[in-house]
Amino acid sequence: MMKRIILCAVALVCCIIGLQAQTQIIAHRGFWKTEGSVQNSITALEKATQGKFYGSEFDVQVTLDGKLIVNHDSKFQGFVIAETPFSKLKKIRLNNGEKLPTLKKYLKEGKKQDIQLILEIKSHKDKKVEDKVASDVVKMVKKMGLENQVEYIAFSLNICEQLVKLTPESKIAYLNGDLAPAELKKKGINGIDYNQKVLFNHPEWVEEAHKLGMKVNVWTVNKVEDMQKFIDMGVDYITTDHPLEVQKLLE
Ligand code: MG
Repeated sequence: MMKRIILCAVALVCCIIGLQAQTQIIAHRGFWKTEGSVQNSITALEKATQGKFYGSEFDVQVTLDGKLIVNHDSKFQGFVIAETPFSKLKKIRLNNGEKLPTLKKYLKEGKKQDIQLILEIKSHKDKKVEDKVASDVVKMVKKMGLENQVEYIAFSLNICEQLVKLTPESKIAYLNGDLAPAELKKKGINGIDYNQKVLFNHPEWVEEAHKLGMKVNVWTVNKVEDMQKFIDMGVDYITTDHPLEVQKLLE
């Protein structure tokens, strides 16, 4: 009888642990605060894989002639990316000596690595360009067989809606922070990826999202006390420039 009670208790504890999935780490713009690495570089992606983080985030922009490249800012070393042909940008190096990565090159490297690729499509002032970029990105991801490894994020609601049409089975999270989870769910968007201030103001959105079967990601959490608060709130992912600090807390 006693043995049976103990077995039941163990099963119950396992069940509770299983239900409360642990928070996972996403390296913001890759793991770049480490030697030889810079934001959005192939090195930053490789370092994130070596760190055994859940994901490595990166930003996708389009050049004047429609080439998809990986860079955070709308300008790259003085050139406005959207107004510059790729032929001019490809000659310039990142600060660690690497070439400016094209999306194709980045995904090709990512495919060799055991890490989720958190692909942010940057907003564009022209909605038609956004639609074309979303379509081109999804086509490339599918052609390379990366549907399960790539997860999408965007500030532009238009881009998120395009992604829902193009790849409804993918993880798609909205970044802009102005909509409650239920409103996004209605549009087929299955995740929120909100600034930490938004989630501190709306802690109820974590549970609301989870009840709707949505994932919760928070950015960019760089203070240890905030990391702990979000772990305690039960978010699914923390996006951070200091992934090792989150890792220490989780251990
Ligand atoms: Mg980003």
